[in-house]
Amino acid sequence: MQTVQTLLQMSGLPRLEGRMLLEFVLKQPRSWLLAHDTDPLSPEVTAAFLSLAAKRRQGHPMAHLVGQREFRGHMLQVSSDVLIPRPDTELLVELGLVAVEVVQASSLLDLGTGSGAIAISIALARPNVRVTATDFSADALAIAQANAMTLGAKIQWWQGDWYEALPPEGRFDVIVSNPPYIASNDEHLLQGDLRFEPRHALTDDGDGLSHIKTIISGAVQYLTSGGQLWLEHGYEQASTVQDLLGLAGFDAIKTHHDLAGQPRVTGGCLY
Ligand code: GLN
Repeated sequence: MQTVQTLLQMSGLPRLEGRMLLEFVLKQPRSWLLAHDTDPLSPEVTAAFLSLAAKRRQGHPMAHLVGQREFRGHMLQVSSDVLIPRPDTELLVELGLVAVEVVQASSLLDLGTGSGAIAISIALARPNVRVTATDFSADALAIAQANAMTLGAKIQWWQGDWYEALPPEGRFDVIVSNPPYIASNDEHLLQGDLRFEPRHALTDDGDGLSHIKTIISGAVQYLTSGGQLWLEHGYEQASTVQDLLGLAGFDAIKTHHDLAGQPRVTGGCLY
């Protein structure tokens, strides 16, 4: 009979990952594992755990194996239809929330919402703001909607390509987006979790800037006067994004750095 101890040793995984998979299979918290680490485990639990451990050793993302990922304290359901929420993106949420305060926003738009991480976090933090979210993928929107339902976030959803998803009369005080900004020849696409994420959520299959350009140029029509746009981007794209915002007529353009110290989110104000 296997035990928590022997299974973690057999898994060939870092201890934290092994524990997370075992917690998932057993539907028990970390404290249970610690208190029962020499209890015999059933053959079913053993088989389910070893199969997940094998997938993890092949590189499958932890978030896919357990079907969820935490973002800003909210547990979000994820699948291979959506980008796995990254801690870096919490910066975009912070800046979106600051923008909401500064412009006294009553409406906010999240373009390309994926799992809904950004829109849901903002809607839960500012229930008085009317939050709208779009995605090109119906499968992604289904996940985002399920997440919003579970977490009790009220959001209006539209399916389509960036602004084309929206009714033409739509105007927003704040727009945020984490678009696919990785260049098609970037080697990171072939590494780690990215290999298992939807390619269209990661790259434009070009230089990584085409969706950023679409979002910036369209913002002129969809922002209210004095509104703000904030975009997540690649660590080498900050000055280009600043230039694009400037050319589109934005003021007070600023770049903020992520937890790893990389320039990650740039935005500005449009009068
Ligand atoms: N930040 C992600 C990564 O580099 C990419 C997300 C995106 O393209 N929007 O892994």
